[in-house]
Amino acid sequence: MKKPPLLPMAEPLPLQLPYPWQESQWQSWDQRRQAQRLAHAVMISGAEGIGKQRLALSMANRLLCLDLHGLYPCGRCKGCQLLASGSHRDLYRLQPEPKSRFIKVDAVRELSGALAQSGQQGGWKVAIIEPAEAMNIAAANALLKTLEEPDGQTLIILLSARPSAVPATVRSRCQKWVMPLPRRSEALPWLQAVANSAECEQQLDAAAGRPLLALQSVSSGELAARQQLHQQLQQVTAQTLSPLRLAEQLSRSGEPALHWFKQLLEQLLRSQSLQPAIDRDTLLALFALRDSTTEALSWLHSGNNPSLQSLWETLLLSWLRLPPLQYSAPFSHVEESR
Ligand SMILES: [Zn+2]
Repeated sequence: MKKPPLLPMAEPLPLQLPYPWQESQWQSWDQRRQAQRLAHAVMISGAEGIGKQRLALSMANRLLCLDLHGLYPCGRCKGCQLLASGSHRDLYRLQPEPKSRFIKVDAVRELSGALAQSGQQGGWKVAIIEPAEAMNIAAANALLKTLEEPDGQTLIILLSARPSAVPATVRSRCQKWVMPLPRRSEALPWLQAVANSAECEQQLDAAAGRPLLALQSVSSGELAARQQLHQQLQQVTAQTLSPLRLAEQLSRSGEPALHWFKQLLEQLLRSQSLQPAIDRDTLLALFALRDSTTEALSWLHSGNNPSLQSLWETLLLSWLRLPPLQYSAPFSHVEESR
């Protein structure tokens, strides 16, 4: 039997609380909740890895919690327990279907239909759509009416790391929240508390200040692997390691190394452009290599099954031909625009 495209939230959801760096946003939202002045559609945008999803789930948990007065959901009431067991029927999560990049119009229609009914627990209904840019035009159009005239106690939260890719008709109907990168003074203590690692500062730097990405690399041992790649690249530059030999090694480590290489090139581009005397040839060579790496990644995704080893050979030979580079610590902290 074919599964329906959209199901009410079925995964168990333990008590959801905002991250420390979301506290001021949370408190002002909660004041509006207590004053019954909530917007019915909110679009939360910001970089990947800073906790947009957690903020949305915390808002959903707060609204579906039956203890109306606390700043946070209680974790004990029937609403919280239904969420925890994955059986609350008033939380909807709309994401691309497995193996698809898109949220389809049928799924949005089904969501709109569900949101037009009264909540099964008699209170709020919450829908989280992520990433919002995964809705194609037809899907976005199907959402417009619900965004404009939602049924009473309904909150629709759209999450996006690329809000400009969301149709303007959708954006204009939502209250817009732009989440900045967390301050280091808030992100670092959090990471140190949850990661239990001596390398938190470095990990946060490598993740360009995005704490959840940093946490991921702690768990996967990614930082050590990135640093190893960096050392190997320096050895290639110093001609103590053959680019062909490194290409063979890297072809066995799969796609992530290619992403790290691209990120390293982007960091080098940024640091080169901050040098007092910009060397145009170096910049152009770095740009060209960065573009070839992007191309190599899209070949990998094209389904043509290219040889990773020959992709690496081409890239590393270009790396070897780069003029000598001035650079400081590997994967150093990069301030992103806020
Ligand atoms: Zn509760």
